[in-house]
Parts: sequence; structure tokens; C-alpha cells
Amino acid sequence: MFQKILIANRGEIALRVLRACKELGIQTVVVHSTADADAMHVRLADESVCIGPPPSRDSYLNIHQIVAACEITGADAVHPGYGFLSENAKFADILAAHNITFIGPSGDHIRIMGDKIEAKRTAKRLGIPVVPGSDGAVTDQKEARRIAAEIGYPVIIKASAGGGGRGMKVALTEADLEIALHTASTEAGAAFGDDAVYIEKYLEKPRHIEVQVFGDGAGRGVHFGERDCSLQRRHQKVWEEAPSPALNAEERARIGNICAKAIADLGYSGAGTIEFLYENGEFYFIEMNTRLQVEHPVTEAITGIDLVHEQIRVASGGGLSVRQEDIKFNGHAIECRINAEDPRTFTPSPGTITHFHTPGGLGIRVDSGVYSGYKIPPYYDSLIGKLIVHGRNRVECMMRLRRALDEFVVDGIKTTLPLFRDLVGNADIANGDYDIHWLEKYLAKEE
Ligand code: ADP
Repeated sequence: MFQKILIANRGEIALRVLRACKELGIQTVVVHSTADADAMHVRLADESVCIGPPPSRDSYLNIHQIVAACEITGADAVHPGYGFLSENAKFADILAAHNITFIGPSGDHIRIMGDKIEAKRTAKRLGIPVVPGSDGAVTDQKEARRIAAEIGYPVIIKASAGGGGRGMKVALTEADLEIALHTASTEAGAAFGDDAVYIEKYLEKPRHIEVQVFGDGAGRGVHFGERDCSLQRRHQKVWEEAPSPALNAEERARIGNICAKAIADLGYSGAGTIEFLYENGEFYFIEMNTRLQVEHPVTEAITGIDLVHEQIRVASGGGLSVRQEDIKFNGHAIECRINAEDPRTFTPSPGTITHFHTPGGLGIRVDSGVYSGYKIPPYYDSLIGKLIVHGRNRVECMMRLRRALDEFVVDGIKTTLPLFRDLVGNADIANGDYDIHWLEKYLAKEE
């Protein structure tokens, strides 16, 4: 087991990882920018190292400073959290070259899944169902027309290097195809320095369903069921739940087993999430994230298993603590992402939190790094906390969520809490009847 882990992140996820380390009796080092000197994870860590000024590129993304912090403090492993360097293959390689363990998969696996064309090709080879589309990059208009006609309109043009919902264009008919291909490719070149794009069938009313997987790096793979993250705004997840209200036990086992086998065959190590669009009973792979996800607590709630403990165990060579047959699903969990944003316009609302009171009671978990008097710096993501609620079934979970939202107090800044108070009373949400476009349509109506 590791003696000392360096946490290369900030906010709620830094605290989340720190808690797991404390439980396992592992010493903790956190790195932080000058803007985060007063952060909760800095106060609670055994050691902290200031690695630079507020902009992420000079601090949380500064690989040299982070490696230097490991050497100074004698950390033997790094947990990257999510975002920042968590899916940076070069970072994983550099740590390996310094004999520091990256708590995550190999640089090669990160690289494959970071290139969407390569990821899709790999998924297909491993027996994972993918969205019908081009086999690789498409540059030629004639070829694009042929493929689009074959799979049928509408189609979506996506950037191979894409991420965060950027570099995607929909073509409803052949008349839109030329311009969509051109704009997607130009935008991808400008945003990612790689103009390769590919074509996929555009699914009109899918749900976003993702499977939590783990590999032990020695040929064993398991799945921890799915999460439904269909409630999105601008491709950003807002509300996540497990299990999906749309799946039955047979579908869950079928897709879960396909994913677990793929992970085993790949020889993958650590946590991963295989994301699908789901429509008319079919799953279509869109991408794989090679890290812990923001929404992992809903999976922890229904399985009772600490996924960060598992990540640390696997990375230290101790293997997984569970076999597939040990993973049981119990009840229902929902997570609401609480952002420091205006609940209507979603413009960031940094500032000082004058009062912060979290709900409590059975089935309630709040993961947050903030406190009363905390000043939210304007430089980073606006997520300030996550409310995760568990119940024996979805109805109980929703009742408890409504009660917990009423108890939650965040004064001094605007947050997305009022949005969740509206959603929890909505009939479609109560019925689990929503797709990936539902929230955007709902917000447009409310304006
Ligand atoms: P990114 O890495 O940029 O987040 P994804 O491939 O994960 O890109 O897609 C992000 C979102 O875009 C999906 O959750 C979905 O809402 C939409 N999307 C992607 N591919 C398709 C498709 N083939 N049909 C319909 N919507 C899609």
C-alpha cells in the first residue's frame, strides 16, 4: 500500500480523495494555487504545497511543479481526481518515469480513449455496440455523402479530438452536409489543433446511460451498474441517478457484462466509465472516460462500495476488493450538482458564501469543499457541492430529495438549488420520463 498520496486537484473532489486516504491510513499531500490557500482540502491535508498563481495552466495543470511537489514531499502516488490532468497521458507517462504511481490507467489506455475515432474503433473490436457511422476520419465530401446516405439522415459530424460537447455539428439533410463537415472540421482545428472529424447517425431522443467499470490491470474486469445522466444543459450533466429509470434488470446485466468483459480483454487498470446513448432498447457507445466521474457517488450509494478505495487498492497492486457476484444493487440514488451560478441564466456567481448549511438525516450525503465565510475564487469550475440522496426505491429517494433541498441553505451567492426544487416537483421527472433534450426544452419554456 502507498505511504503518501499527492492529490492533484481542488474543491470537493480533492476533499473526497483525501477522506478515502485518511480512512486507509495513508498520508496526504495536496497541491494548491495561491487562490486556494484557504480551501478546506488544504486545511485538512497532512501537508500542502503551493504550486503557482491562480490560472490553472500555471498551477493545477503545471506538470513540472506537481512532480517537484511529489519529490519534495516523498509522495509515492498521485490521485488526479477528475478534470485537470486526470486524462492527460503525458502526465501518467512522466509520473511513471519518476517511479511515482499514477492512480489511474496506463498512459496508452488514456491515449486510445482520448482519441474518439480510435476509442470507437477499439470499442467495436471489443464487442461494445457503437453508433453507426464512418469507420474513421472523413475528409472527402463525396465519401461523406455516401456514408450519410447509407446510415440515413440526420447525421452528426464530430471532432476526433473533441471534448466538453464542442466540435459537433448536425446535418438534417444532404443539403446541410457540406457546410456541417466544413464548420466542424474548422472548429476542431482551431479548438483542438486537430481537424479530423467523423460521421455518426444522429439519435433524436436518446437517454445518456453510462456504465461504471473497473479493471484490475491483470485481466479482470467488473461493472458497478449504470447511471442515467440524461438531464443535461449544453452537454453538461446537471442531475444523475442510479439505476436508470429506463432499464430493466436484464438490460442492465447485458450491457454491464459486455462492458466488464471489454475491460478485462483490454487489460485495463482502475476506474472507467463507458458512455452510451440509449434509444429504443439499444445502446450506442459514444466515449469512454478513463477516470473517476463527478457522479460516482450515486453508484457508491446503491452498491455501498467506496470507489476511491478501489482505485487506490488497484493502483497499489492490491487488486479489487470485490468480484462481480459481490456487487449488489440496493435502492435508488440521485445526485444534484450545486453550482455557483444563476439558476436561470447559468452565469457564474463567484463571491463569499455568507451562510452554508447542509441537510442531514438518513440517506443524505453532501460532498462539498465550501463553508460559511468561504470566498469562491472566480478562476475555476463553478461546482461547489453535490447533494446525493439514497432511498429504498425511486419514490422514497425523490421524497427525501425534496426534503433535503428544502433544508439546504447557501447565502451570499446564487446557486442552482432553485432549479432542483423545481425539477423535483415536475411530473416528467417524477415519472423518470426524460431524454437528453428534456432539460433544454424545459428551460426554454420557463424563460
Ligand atoms: P464530448 O466528449 O464532447 O462530451 P460526447 O461524444 O460524449 O462528446 O457527446 C456529448 C453529447 O453530445 C452526448 O451526451 C449527446 O448529448 C450528444 N451526442 C453525441 N453523439 C451523438 C449522436 N450520435 N446522436 C445524438 N446526440 C449525440
